[in-house]
Amino acid sequence: MGERFLVDAMLGRAGKLLRMMGFDAYIRGNNEPLHRFVERKGFILTSRRRWDEGLWRKVEGRIKVFEQNTPMEEVVVWVLRNFGIPPEERFFSRCIVCNTPVVIPDEIPPLRWVDPSTVRYCPACKKYYWEGSHTRRMRKLIEELIRRAQEGSSLTH
Ligand SMILES: [Zn+2]
Repeated sequence: MGERFLVDAMLGRAGKLLRMMGFDAYIRGNNEPLHRFVERKGFILTSRRRWDEGLWRKVEGRIKVFEQNTPMEEVVVWVLRNFGIPPEERFFSRCIVCNTPVVIPDEIPPLRWVDPSTVRYCPACKKYYWEGSHTRRMRKLIEELIRRAQEGSSLTH
């Protein structure tokens, strides 16, 4: 669970789902050169097949290459099987937009229909999060992915 993931841009949606589950998931920027991306610390998730020799040596042992157009759910299920399922209290503990851990805000904005005890804040984006219909939908999806991860036998890297 301490693992940091480097998610290539084409798997960005999977990266956001990993963040939702509390994983540290860095998503490659649109203009970030590949060599700079792979120099970062972390386990790489990509669907890129072509890597030049030098880069390939740099990423050896810490990369999983998915088939192009792999559904993001399958990417996440693979991570859960190989890196473990995070405890529920980790869910929604990171900003979906920027990956920063969210905090309990000093001041709760006057939001109607929101349970103030669920409000979290991203100090980097200055964005508020709270439990609502969206998080309920996402929790259902997360539960479904965990179920799938537990059903299948463990895969190899
Ligand atoms: Zn943020």
